[in-house]
Amino acid sequence: NENTLLGIFPDEILPTSTARVWWECKDCGRKYLLSVNMWVEKHIRGMTSCTYCSGLRMRETHVLL
Ligand SMILES: [Zn+2]
Repeated sequence: NENTLLGIFPDEILPTSTARVWWECKDCGRKYLLSVNMWVEKHIRGMTSCTYCSGLRMRETHVLL
């Protein structure tokens, strides 16, 4: 899993980097700021790293409850 993730990073950025960079969400198309290591950790766990989509999911959960 980590090996496939490595391919999407430029050579100068390590997956363990705490540098915050801009990501473009493939689901909502919006851009969000997140540290590289947090993004990798969420993807390894199969979670959405997008702050907008994760926010939506939290709101949906509240509606269901
Ligand atoms: Zn999104």
